[in-house]
Amino acid sequence: MLTLETAQDVLKKYFGYDSFRWGQEETISNILSGNHTACIMPTGGGKSLCYQIPALLLEGTTLVISPLISLMKDQVDALNSAGISATYINSSISVQEARQRMDEARVGEYQLLYIAPERLESQSFINELRDIPIPLVAVDEAHCISQWGHDFRPSYLRIHQLLTQLPDNPTLVALTATATPQVRLDICTTLGINEDQTVITGFERENLSFSVVKGQDRLVFIEDYVKKNIKEAGIIYAATRKEVENVYERLKKKGMNVGKYHAGLSSDYREKEQTLFLNDEISVMVATSAFGMGIDKSNIRYVIHHQLPKNMESYYQEAGRAGRDGLESECIVLYSPMDIRIQRYLIEQTTHNHERQIQELEKLQQMINFCHTEGCLQVYILEYFGEAESEPCGRCGNCTDERIAVDVTTDAQKVLSCMIRMGERFGKTAVAQVLTGSRNKKMTDLGFEGLSTYGLMKDQTAKQVSEFIEFLISEGYILVGGGSYPTLSVSNKGKEVLTKKMNVMRKETVETKQLVQDDE
Ligand code: ADP
Ligand code: ZN
Repeated sequence: MLTLETAQDVLKKYFGYDSFRWGQEETISNILSGNHTACIMPTGGGKSLCYQIPALLLEGTTLVISPLISLMKDQVDALNSAGISATYINSSISVQEARQRMDEARVGEYQLLYIAPERLESQSFINELRDIPIPLVAVDEAHCISQWGHDFRPSYLRIHQLLTQLPDNPTLVALTATATPQVRLDICTTLGINEDQTVITGFERENLSFSVVKGQDRLVFIEDYVKKNIKEAGIIYAATRKEVENVYERLKKKGMNVGKYHAGLSSDYREKEQTLFLNDEISVMVATSAFGMGIDKSNIRYVIHHQLPKNMESYYQEAGRAGRDGLESECIVLYSPMDIRIQRYLIEQTTHNHERQIQELEKLQQMINFCHTEGCLQVYILEYFGEAESEPCGRCGNCTDERIAVDVTTDAQKVLSCMIRMGERFGKTAVAQVLTGSRNKKMTDLGFEGLSTYGLMKDQTAKQVSEFIEFLISEGYILVGGGSYPTLSVSNKGKEVLTKKMNVMRKETVETKQLVQDDE
């Protein structure tokens, strides 16, 4: 008889832990009762044990489908050194090696077998799996099954078919850290999981403080921040290899203990840097988003995004690598409106499906809104991931912002009515140009000089008005159209401002300089 008590013994015996974390127990008991289960936990929440412990309790070999080759090896190594028999099959091993591992699996050598999803493209591979008693299939990074997620893998769509072909009617567990309500629904329907069998644990990370820093020289900010926290481990994410090199060189030149990681470096080099970082021999890692998947380092005190991440999913996953040990840690986005263009460009270059492009651009917009909201950043994140009704955290950059909010309703009305007069067919820049009375030729060509709102805000710069428009977008007064040209329109909330049913309050803008040295 399998009970949670035995699961507890396994937890202690193999992993050395005394108690389960929130959500683990429920997931494990669900699996052991034979229910297909979706397990949604933030990064670092402890998802792996949710299938590893059942794997040790069930007869046969648990099949783990994972898209991350480097993670597979790490996990298998860790399991092996805990005395658990596990192996993996993916493109990093030779055909002979794969054959041998399958032969061993067939005779029951392994309690866990990790495979890459692409293997499921091969019917002969599935036929071989049919010879192995498989009581449980674990689908890691399950959001990859959804076209609406941020990392769709077509091979994931084969999983359901695999299940119908395996003779032992295995239980299925799907795990992910990044499921919005829509993606969650997709996971359940595609894999045939009853939605009631979803275990979801709080996404709030009470030890993380989020903040967005604007209008700063970013290299100066980073240098100063790292210098002040030189004894702590941190990650600095940059959007491109070139930017990684830039930041790295700067810190290196200042004699800091820094490493770098991106896909343009040899795998030997990357592995070496990663190990040094894990062993606290390098304190700061400058990296692209290629770094960090499956990295188990608990004492990361800060994660800085040198550039705007492409969406909230990636952001929370990367930022969430800070503070896994539960100690207070900081997550900072260094925001510059210029990054929007880079991210848009990357999306347009890499996403060819039109519908999907629009999706990605919308996700980017929500990321931009995060940078402009004046509400609690933790609340923004939780609402994004579908957790309603959370209280302001009291820790983030916005909660601790003591600037006074001023009434900017009149300015908001100027912007909104200008948009309407322009037919709601233009973007931020054009609206800002009309309001500041720009002499740009386009203005004359389109006849905007004749609008009553032309030059209405000429006491401000076009940049200031643009930022104000960003603020109105992030607070939901203005909607941004999808597609490659972001046209602005007035939302219902915006209409209430125009009809004087609602006031708009904004914190005074002051330069955030506290962490930057004066001598630069
Ligand atoms: P996830 O896959 O959700 O990102 P992991 O499974 O990698 O998270 O677990 C994150 C860390 O938490 C690991 O170091 C793991 O050993 C640890 N951990 C997991 N479960 C427990 C537990 N019940 N008690 C203490 N530590 C745990
Ligand atoms: Zn807050």
